[in-house]
This record gives sequence, structure tokens and C-alpha cells, in this order.
Amino acid sequence: MIPASGSYYLANVRVHQSLTPGLVATFDSDGFALADLSVGEGKIASIAAHGRSKAPADAIDLGGRIVLPCFVDCHTHIDKGHIWPRKPNPDGTFMAALNATGADRTTRWSAEDVARRMDFSLRCAYAHGTKAVRTHLDSVAPQEEISWPVFETIREKWRGRIDVQAACLLGIESVRDQAWFERLAKRVAAAKGVLGVVTYMVPDLEELLDKVFAEAIKHGLDLDFHADETDDVSAISLEKIAEASLWNGFDGNILVGHCCSLARQPDLEVLDTLDKVAKAGLAVVSLPMCNLYLQDRRNNQTTPRWRGVTLLHEMKARGIKVAVASDNTRDPFYAYGDLDMLEVYRMATRILHFDHPVGDWPKAMAATPAEVMRLEGAGTLAAGGSADFIVFKGRSWTELLSRPESDRIVVRKGRAIDRRLPDYAELDELMVE
Ligand SMILES: [Zn+2]
Repeated sequence: MIPASGSYYLANVRVHQSLTPGLVATFDSDGFALADLSVGEGKIASIAAHGRSKAPADAIDLGGRIVLPCFVDCHTHIDKGHIWPRKPNPDGTFMAALNATGADRTTRWSAEDVARRMDFSLRCAYAHGTKAVRTHLDSVAPQEEISWPVFETIREKWRGRIDVQAACLLGIESVRDQAWFERLAKRVAAAKGVLGVVTYMVPDLEELLDKVFAEAIKHGLDLDFHADETDDVSAISLEKIAEASLWNGFDGNILVGHCCSLARQPDLEVLDTLDKVAKAGLAVVSLPMCNLYLQDRRNNQTTPRWRGVTLLHEMKARGIKVAVASDNTRDPFYAYGDLDMLEVYRMATRILHFDHPVGDWPKAMAATPAEVMRLEGAGTLAAGGSADFIVFKGRSWTELLSRPESDRIVVRKGRAIDRRLPDYAELDELMVE
């Protein structure tokens, strides 16, 4: 369907208002409009409302199929990915996940092991239509000395196919070792990475956050937090991060993941926190699949009664940037997943009610994470931009989100890519006990 020449005219494509800035067209109540899109030299040469200009004789009529820009996945853990066969989670709880992963990391995460699993994950993401991935890298000593060089090599290998970013991952208590943390921040800066930590309600949280912000400011780094991934209503580190950002006068980008406990807190406290988050300009990413899996899991003899996700609707209403992302794949934190952002968006629609109306929620899988990751031109379809898009079978939200769309066509720089997924058997030799 997509000519190998890389030069063609697609007529009758269905595009979404939230992902086609600048397109003048009549959008329906689902946010869709029909458009014609021409591609040449790897770029989108033009995009206009359907029928506005005369289609060439060799135009390809897509019959109203949905075309979306390639996905941006802003929160993943591809250093942990696919260890499940050798290190499953015995009971599906968060604590068991933490312990199992820690044990696997200290015994198995050689440079080769990490590199092969990361590459496997990126091949999955690429085949599903993702063009940028941010991964967290477990950076507890001595793992940072292994994983950061691997990341730098992988990023080069994937340049032009997937923009790979990395953020360090460590519990905030590790920041107490100031000399080590300063060294880590320097290493992250040298790799042009992002400074990341996991916040807990430790007594010296504010002091430690100040140290994190100080290092970020010193090296000009963006920040990325894991915050409040718990049902414990006393977990308010999202608010503490917002306050720390304001009083440190931080002007870089801050992305905060999870924020699960917020959904359990009293309304008045929630509103106060969200006002601070908006004022501080934080962006929030929800990880719906992982949250559904880990949150509200008690002894596996009770049925979960809440969804685990944070308050994205209330955030978006306040102008807070919101995204959804994959998080873990086939590791003790989440037994499933394949870095398929369509699956993430489909699950988000169901878990978080991204529907009736759909509004501008599609930005959460493309345009917004691209902005947070500072990827200019990614996550939208516009004339002059790289011709990176996905052609689906579906012609409406219900068609798009009811099937896996495994037969979608992924176009990169104007050409359809080979979408074969890597075989799990490739990893078998890494999974031997
Ligand atoms: Zn995470």
C-alpha cells in the first residue's frame, strides 16, 4: 500500500485534531477529519483537508483509515525488561517486585545481559510504531557503571530509528551519600541523560529533594521522578516535588510518574496539590497497565477495588501536561506488555475513561510526551515534518481500540518498515537459572 519509492499521495486519511496542529478542516465530534497527505524525500510535503486540492492520478485512497503520528513512550524500564522467565514475581505485589528485581540485578545484569534485553525491547517498540523512548536505568551502585555505558552504545545504534533517552533510577535515600550522588549526576550529565529518583516519605525528604534540584541546576538537567506509587494516603511526595521546584526556582522540565496515592486522598488536599503542580509546571505520566497490575493487590484472595491510576482528568483541566506510557514489560513489576503504545492507549481509554468525549487525550501518547522529552516535531503530523506515521485499519475510535491492530503499517521517513517482532526464543539463553 505504501510505495517503496517513498514519494506518494495518500487521499482520504482520517487524522485527529489534537495531533495535526495547523490543519484547517472540519473536525467531527470525535476530533477526526478526512485529509490528504503527500510524502516526499522522507517528509510530509503537504497535509490538507480532503478534496481541497486535486489528487494526482496515482493517489492512494486510504478509505478513511486512521493515521496517527508515531508514538512517544516517555516512561519505560528497558533495563529490567523481559527478565520474567528467570525472575518472576511470586505474588504480584510491589514489595516482591522490588526484591526480585534487586536480586536479579545484583547477580545477572552484566553489560551483555542488559544490552541484549534493551535491544530486544527497542525492536518491539519500533515494530509497534514508537519513535522515541525514555527509559529509567537502575543506578544503584555498582549498576550505574554497567548500565550507563550500555545505554550510550544502544542510543547510538538506534539513532535515526528510535530516540532513546535515559534517566537514572535510585531511591531518594541514596541521595544522602552526597559524594556518590554528585558523581552520579556528573555521569548522567556526561551521557546527556535525565536526573531521576524515586521519592518516599522519608523524614528528610525536603532536604534530599533540595540536593536533587541543586544537582539538576548545576548540570542543567531535566528531572524525572517516580512518586507515590502506593495506596498509602500519607504519600504526598508529588506535592513536595512541586514545592521544591518552586522554591528552588527550577526552570527545566520535570516529569513525575505514578502519583497513585493522589487518587485516594481527600478532595480538598488533592485540589491544593494540583494547584501547586500546575503552578510549578510539572508534567505527569500515568502508567495504567502497571498500576492496574500492582495497586490494590493484597493477598490475591481479594478482588482489587480501585484502578491504581492517578487523577489525569483533574490535572488536564488545570493545564497540567499529562501523558500515558508503558512502564515495565515482562519483569517482576508487570508480567506482560510489549512496549506497544496502542495497547497502552487502549488500556488507558478503558481504565482512565479517555472517551465520550475523546477530546485531546490522543496527545497523551504522542505530542505531550514529545514536548516533555524536548523532541521537536515528534508526536504530530505537519507539513515539513518527518514522515513518521502509522496507518491503521480502524476508521473510528471503536474500530481502532477494539482490535490489537497487529496489521498496522508503520511508516518511517516515508517508507513502510519491516514490522516483524523479535522472537522470545532469542532470549532463552539469558533465562537459564
Ligand atoms: Zn517506572
